[in-house]
Formats: sequence, structure tokens, C-alpha cells
Amino acid sequence: MTPREKALTNIPEAKKWVGAAVTALNFVIGFNGKRSEIDNLPHFKALKTHFHVSLGPPPGVVDRLLRLLPFVDGDPTLAILKDIRFNYFSILGALARDSIFIDAPAEGEGAKATAFVPQRRDGTLRITPLYMNVGQLNQTLVLVHESAHFIGDAFQDFAYRDRTGIDPNDPTKEVEPRKYIDLPVQFAIRNADSYAYFAVQMGKGIDRILGQEE
Ligand SMILES: [Zn+2]
Repeated sequence: MTPREKALTNIPEAKKWVGAAVTALNFVIGFNGKRSEIDNLPHFKALKTHFHVSLGPPPGVVDRLLRLLPFVDGDPTLAILKDIRFNYFSILGALARDSIFIDAPAEGEGAKATAFVPQRRDGTLRITPLYMNVGQLNQTLVLVHESAHFIGDAFQDFAYRDRTGIDPNDPTKEVEPRKYIDLPVQFAIRNADSYAYFAVQMGKGIDRILGQEE
């Protein structure tokens, strides 16, 4: 079995996780309880962990009335959640296309990668021999992560869940241990690992960093 063939066997599980992420987003977006209850939903808490969305006061002068309602039209948080959901649909679209997955050597920009999408997007999602060295959870996680990159080059590695990553403003800067946690929302919603880790949390109930030996 080639690394690509192995990856294809993990796609149904990756789709399941992404489906669970979409279901969770639907639940929060369509929540019809009180606005104050949204903050305590486990799904919303997970969205805060990975995408750093926050429930600010609703806009406008009718704050007091709106506080009793769930999301209202024009709510910036709702717009962000819908954007995240749309991106998960795009991730599902990538996972549905077997032909984009190809075998490739772990060389150049993919030298240490189990899978990668070339910086210059060429319609491929490359699986390297290193893919065979990691466990099933990691093999699935990386498919979601790379499918996020596949959406377009706005999707980058601004911060990894394991606390490393490039500084969006200064790629030469040292990595910071709190980077993933403190990543501003505008970067978090374009961060590949945020999509991967929210999906694994919703799909498997796993809220921890997956190591190389999973
Ligand atoms: Zn990446």
C-alpha cells in the first residue's frame, strides 16, 4: 500500500470529523435559547479554544432586548461562525476528490512533512512516505489540516496546536509557547491547525495535542 492509498483509507474518518464540526457549528449558529447561554455551550467553548471567537455585546442600541435573543442579523460573531462553516464545506470538497491526493517524496518544502500542499498551489495534496510513520489519529488529522491549506493560500500555519508556528507579521521571529492560544481571530480562522483540532475535538471528543506516535 502506498502512502497515498493509506491516506485514502483514512478519508471517511476525516469526513466524519469534519461533518461533526459542521454539525456543531450548525448547532451554535441555529441555537435558539438565550444569548447568555451560548457562551456555556460546549461547542461554543471549543470554538473559543480553536478559533478565538468571542461573544461580544450585540451591536446597536437595543442591546438590552437583544441580550435575550440568540444571534441577530449582522452579528459579527455569527458572520465569523458562518465563514468557518463555509471553510469546512470547502475542506469536505477537497476530501471528496481522491484525484488531488498524490504520492510524493518528502523533499524540499515537504522534507519533514507527512503530507503537504505546495506553497505554490498546483491542485495537489501530497502524501509522503513519512505518513506511514504516524498513527491513525495523526494520519486523519493531517488530512483535515492539509485540506484547509488546499482551500487557498490565505490558509497558513500561523500557529500549531503544539505551540510552534510562524509569526504572521515576522516569519523570522522565534516561536512562542502561547501562540496558538493567543492567535488573533482573524488569523485563527485562516489557520490550518485550528480547523484540524476543532474537527478532532468534535469528531472524537479529543481535546489534546496529538503526538507523532498516536
Ligand atoms: Zn500546515
